Amino acid sequence: MTDLKPQTAAVTRPVSDEGRDDRVLPFAVEPLDLRGRVVRLGASVDRILGQHDYPAPVARLLGEAAVLTALLGSALKFDGRLQLQTRSDGLVNMLVVDFDAPDGLRGFARFDAERLAEVGPTAELLGKGHLALTIEQGNEMSRYQGIVALEGQGLEAAAHQYFRQSEQIPTFVRLAVAESLTGAGMEWRAGGLMVQFLPASRERQVMPDLPPGDAPEGTLVPEMKEDDAWVEAKALAATVEDHELVDPTLSSERLLYRLFHERGVKVFETQNVRASCRCSRERIANMLKSFTPDERKDMVGDNGKIGVTCEFCSTFREFEPVEFD
Ligand SMILES: [Zn+2]
Repeated sequence: MTDLKPQTAAVTRPVSDEGRDDRVLPFAVEPLDLRGRVVRLGASVDRILGQHDYPAPVARLLGEAAVLTALLGSALKFDGRLQLQTRSDGLVNMLVVDFDAPDGLRGFARFDAERLAEVGPTAELLGKGHLALTIEQGNEMSRYQGIVALEGQGLEAAAHQYFRQSEQIPTFVRLAVAESLTGAGMEWRAGGLMVQFLPASRERQVMPDLPPGDAPEGTLVPEMKEDDAWVEAKALAATVEDHELVDPTLSSERLLYRLFHERGVKVFETQNVRASCRCSRERIANMLKSFTPDERKDMVGDNGKIGVTCEFCSTFREFEPVEFD
């Protein structure tokens, strides 16, 4: 099963102004039984989004998905992999982001360019469909998949639903993406905050019931009261602003101090994140070998070669058809 608690040893460090990008900072607010992570992405998300020439709204959505994947994937053990995938009827009909432990992040989006150009960026991008989180970890690469319905609620709310349904852990997530002007031009930045209520006693993790759905009208839903510590934790976490999550001059430590200093926050070892793709010439050659000679013949371009572009990192590679004969 998944274990989304920080894997790192508890090391209390003084709150510093160390403002390094592309890392995940796990933390705890012990008086509130809170565990969480802050992720700040700079060069990594700029590279992932820069590898594609997506319109800004699509890039922004993929950036959000990258932050969420980094928040969730960084809890995996060293040999694990987490994949976030959406399939929907929205303008962005597919998003895929992979986190390969300990630090690799990659992703791409598929979208309807014509419709997007027609309706503009205010249109609902994700639409209706589903979001799947697939986690593989351990020696036998045990596989776990959690799926939540997408109904126009966006990635943050979908993440809350995932934790409610699949993990039964009260969880609050915030995601932010921004394009900022630097000396080198426009750069993408992204950040996220995730907090989870993990008291010693499971009974305190009670969550109010979801609306009864298909139940007949008038069905009574028992009123469930959330734990006071979790109510306070959510209220504090919810004060985080988008600009704080993407501000390059505000370190993760200072941000946590701003949010939780009244209760005392303890931080753990940071984990790095980098843009990295698993593709290689050899892997693609193996993929091409799995086609029949006739299928491969159809792939040969005007220059007599088979050209393949990696959908994740846009690396283009060419193969001579004779390599496979
Ligand atoms: Zn690639």
